[in-house]
Amino acid sequence: MELEHLLKSRNLIMPTETNPQAGLPRRTFLKGIIAATGALASTRGLLMAKSMPEAGGLTRPPYQGPNVIIVRFGGGVRRRETIDPQGTYAPFLCHELAKRGTLFPQMQIDSFTPMVGVDTSHGQGTLYIITGKYEKYKDITQKFLAERFESKAPTIFEYLRKSYDVPEHQTLIVNGEDRSNEEFYTFSNHHLYGINYRSNTLSLYRYKTFLLRRSVHAGKWAGKELEKQQKELAKLEAVDYRNAEPNGQGPQLVGFWERWRECYGESGLLNPRGDRLLTDLAIRAIKELRPKLLMVNYQDCDYVHWGNLTHYTRAISIMDDGLRQLVAAVEADPEYRDNTVFVVAPDCGRDNNPMADVPCQHHFNSRSAHEIFALLAGPGVPRGVVVDKPTDQISIAGTIGRLMGFKTEHAESRILEEAIA
Ligand SMILES: [Zn+2]
Repeated sequence: MELEHLLKSRNLIMPTETNPQAGLPRRTFLKGIIAATGALASTRGLLMAKSMPEAGGLTRPPYQGPNVIIVRFGGGVRRRETIDPQGTYAPFLCHELAKRGTLFPQMQIDSFTPMVGVDTSHGQGTLYIITGKYEKYKDITQKFLAERFESKAPTIFEYLRKSYDVPEHQTLIVNGEDRSNEEFYTFSNHHLYGINYRSNTLSLYRYKTFLLRRSVHAGKWAGKELEKQQKELAKLEAVDYRNAEPNGQGPQLVGFWERWRECYGESGLLNPRGDRLLTDLAIRAIKELRPKLLMVNYQDCDYVHWGNLTHYTRAISIMDDGLRQLVAAVEADPEYRDNTVFVVAPDCGRDNNPMADVPCQHHFNSRSAHEIFALLAGPGVPRGVVVDKPTDQISIAGTIGRLMGFKTEHAESRILEEAIA
């Protein structure tokens, strides 16, 4: 089958470090690309071309700008339970961190004219934040709500890594345990960016994959059982159908999981769960992996889909406490203190329909589901400022680019100027 052939070809893509062509001057591999395109003989040639760095990855300057931590205040919150001082369940965000930064309380999703008519949901909102572009995403597996999306526009992780010499393990996305679809957001399909500039993810799914790979390689099983476990490993690793890591997660992440294992064992019963897990993973990542760009994808507010409003408000409190811990971890770290910008923004809002059986959904594209906010705080961001005018979610990516010093040429160009002193 053609698709299978494409995927197989893609598996052959090697990481930058081991790719013998990665250091070639641009003209040399452009020639290769043209030869492949001209002949149209080899799909593999095209796919290989996609993985080539544009300008010889060896000469990128070291990154010396501020670290950025994006806190996705999700999955889906309304302003009234977060940034409204009267109704907030997030006292740290609303009463403390807001004073230390610039708040955009009137941020919206898809508010620029002409509107794109995009969906207000979690995977989509995450991609709008990290690409600075609206796209009508369709699940690539054609399954309802599977939310496996591939971005055509580069992510800010790719922009950063293409502009500066930042290793993959220092551009990180921390994901929830039941959202394996979000494992895909590490790189786009853009032909000048993509896999060579990908970020990495930390999640329980990644830990499970690490454990299984570890046991298989350690010779824990033999015969039929080994076969079974190998199949299971292949299945776990195939969640990333683009097979970006044919050789596992790389030495830094393997080291990270080894230490996690020493602390929490293999049962999954000792480590924190839900959004508390994400806080723990993120704080350990800061300490051990030293990320330059980190995104924490909180999600538990979304349990309100099951009908209970207290799930939602309680999740906001837990997330707010996670944010407080992240800020404390940064402040306790001499290299991160005064050198880290926090960007807090929801993936989407939630509905505001008191008549609905289940309150606060977000799949109906209501006005309230489009209403979000953003808070930026850290060095170079004015303190105690409230920018009370309409802004848009896709302006976040370009703003982060400006703060970190890279161009976001495929992202929205109207950025949050007020957040930059
Ligand atoms: Zn949801």
